[in-house]
Amino acid sequence: MALERLLRGFKDFRTGYYREHHDLFEKLATEGQSPKILIIGCADARVDPGILTQTRPGDIFTVRNVAAMVPPAQYPPDTRHHGTSSAIEFAVRGLNVEHVVVLGHALCGGIGALVDGRDSIYASYDYLSTWTAIAQEVRDLAVGQLKGRSREEITRAVEQAAVLNSIANLMGFRWIAEKVEQGSLALHGWWFNMTEGQLYAFNPATTLFEAVHGLEVHPTVVKGTTLSAIKPEALIAAVAGKKPAF
Ligand SMILES: [Zn+2]
Repeated sequence: MALERLLRGFKDFRTGYYREHHDLFEKLATEGQSPKILIIGCADARVDPGILTQTRPGDIFTVRNVAAMVPPAQYPPDTRHHGTSSAIEFAVRGLNVEHVVVLGHALCGGIGALVDGRDSIYASYDYLSTWTAIAQEVRDLAVGQLKGRSREEITRAVEQAAVLNSIANLMGFRWIAEKVEQGSLALHGWWFNMTEGQLYAFNPATTLFEAVHGLEVHPTVVKGTTLSAIKPEALIAAVAGKKPAF
């Protein structure tokens, strides 16, 4: 049944969308891809970046993993299998994208598991907690600062702070920091709330994620951005109602 749904969908795609956009597919096949945007999203089945942004084939280069995380850069590069980092490298160095969007989301199971820690039903999995530990410090900070708040509030803070943690990790790749400094690359921290159908973008001026209305958005990092503003600590302090200590 589930697979039949896919095959029926592909049949519809072939006779519908593919036929209607035949010129586009022909152009993409002969000229190759030249997307201007890289989206790093979560593998969660409910948050497909292409559907959320109503883009066409060729518009966005997409990496999806558990909790939309960017691991720290590894220098010198080792021989482990860096799936996310290699996709980011290809998009930035090979395709010369102009924007990188880290797209976190509400009700993220990966972040939930990170927040629950040893109490999580996923704690014994082979790979999951090692991966989400990319944001372990952020999680510990949020749990400490937001003591007494509901799990929902803490999880939301970690979901959003983890986006900033990934943005900070992006700046650790030398070819990303160089392009940001040259003014040819902008980094964006976004968070999607599926229960209200609303997109939020991090505003460095307020250190909070703010609802996006219309077609303009503050980039999280561009040339000249003060990097202390994008520290996850700043967001967590703001959510906790405290002033960041810098
Ligand atoms: Zn998720």
